[in-house]
Amino acid sequence: MALNVVKFGGTSVANAELIMKAAQRVARLKQKGDVIVVVSAMGHTTDELIKLSKQITENPRAREMDMLLTAGERISVALFTMALHRFNIRAISFTGSQVGIITDNRHTDARIIEIRGERLINAINQGYVPVVCGFQGVSFEKEITTLGRGGSDTTAVALAAALKAEKCIIYTDVDGVFTEDPNRFAGVKRIKRISYEEMLELASRGAKVLHPRATGIGARFGVPIEVRNSFNNKPGTLITHINGMEHPKPKAITHSENLYLITLVQVPKNPAYLSQITAELTDAGVHLKFFFHGISDAPNFDLSFITPLEERELVKKIIGKLAKKLKIEKIKESLDICSLSVIGFGIGSEHKILAEIFKELSKAKLHIEAVTTSELSINIFLKKKYLDSAINALLVKFKLKE
Ligand code: ASP
Ligand code: MG
Repeated sequence: MALNVVKFGGTSVANAELIMKAAQRVARLKQKGDVIVVVSAMGHTTDELIKLSKQITENPRAREMDMLLTAGERISVALFTMALHRFNIRAISFTGSQVGIITDNRHTDARIIEIRGERLINAINQGYVPVVCGFQGVSFEKEITTLGRGGSDTTAVALAAALKAEKCIIYTDVDGVFTEDPNRFAGVKRIKRISYEEMLELASRGAKVLHPRATGIGARFGVPIEVRNSFNNKPGTLITHINGMEHPKPKAITHSENLYLITLVQVPKNPAYLSQITAELTDAGVHLKFFFHGISDAPNFDLSFITPLEERELVKKIIGKLAKKLKIEKIKESLDICSLSVIGFGIGSEHKILAEIFKELSKAKLHIEAVTTSELSINIFLKKKYLDSAINALLVKFKLKE
């Protein structure tokens, strides 16, 4: 019988009434085939648990954070299973470790190594609907781990891949994947189908609707992923392989705020410096989003890095130390940098599109700090105050809004 993995996000199970509604949906799906349910913690439970830990200590150990945060999903799977029982569905709840989601030992940010699915398969064969805790696993050392914030999507798609499910349906609080965030930009359109590559680019450039790691697993194993709204019955967005040539055109726009730009002014031109600086930053766990330096014949040049704003202190500490060693006298910072990414298969090499973007932004007198392109995206870095008008101008230009 066909197997579907169905995941409900925190907002879709935020209270008892919503859990009953979601369970009713599962009861209906079960009439058509086998179902595995994956759930996130209810509402803002995870945030609240983090806040609670902060009242005890600023530096909790990662192992204890995982022990704490996995409690959120245990609550929701138990309640969800009880709700299914109310609909006379045979259902049973499981933690990540009970269903053999084996991860590495990177607490709070673990990667799935393998899934030992026997227990799930047995449960399904006995007619049960397994309800599995999202976001968690267990390491070879039998330690409880979590997959990083938003990791329930990853659990769901990984289970679908391991058990060769027909589809993974992600139930969330929006109607699918849109041409920009529908909660912020009026008139944006729902995308009916999008390729894994485009979705991966969209997710990693800032769109929150589906976790990039989940998208990556879906792509690798060819799991069709459907994003749907748990509050209505509208069609959603299908993320799948898209065959056939397409005329490159912008498909969606996304953005990322809270970026940090640091510029090392007049760095002596020494080939070892760039690798030394980037190695020190990445070794310390800094996420380098982008770096650039000017091309000139002068003996010195400016070197700029863009990282998430929350890594500012860490970056400053490392750069501060290096600056002394490398005799860099001046550092400039900017705390109001954002990125805007136009996504679409092949658009990075379609020069006309880049020219159209520049033309549109210059018409609106919006200053651009930096640009990068790839096959799948054109990324513009600009000041926060320009972000919304830049996005709106491009949504209109590329007919991505009504
Ligand atoms: N509850 C976890 C979080 O809030 C996992 C998830 O929601 O996907 O990050
Ligand atoms: Mg959550």
